[in-house]
Amino acid sequence: MILIPFTPFLPPHRKTNLPVLGIVENMSGFLCPCCSHVAQIFAPSGDGPKGMANRFNVPYLGSLPIDPQLLQSCEKGEPFVVKHAGTPGAKAFLAVVKEIRKGVEKEDYVEET
Ligand SMILES: [Zn+2]
Repeated sequence: MILIPFTPFLPPHRKTNLPVLGIVENMSGFLCPCCSHVAQIFAPSGDGPKGMANRFNVPYLGSLPIDPQLLQSCEKGEPFVVKHAGTPGAKAFLAVVKEIRKGVEKEDYVEET
């Protein structure tokens, strides 16, 4: 099972025969660390990741803005959603995780040990 981050340049790779769990819209704007406003710094192209999900009949799992706090957590090795619990970035991250979990449960995915 694979998860394909949305990019307008790479369509889902159906040729691999791997089931596609869904599409996550990465870098869906810039989350301002001062006021939590999400600025759309990239011009939308076409019908975007939701349209792509529709075209390929896979779920749209959500969007993740560019969040400087996420980068800082990664660099420090801190769990982002714990360290920054309740922030817009952490909420967006957990919303995607929730959708991934739904998809995994629906696909009856069995984790290999
Ligand atoms: Zn701001």
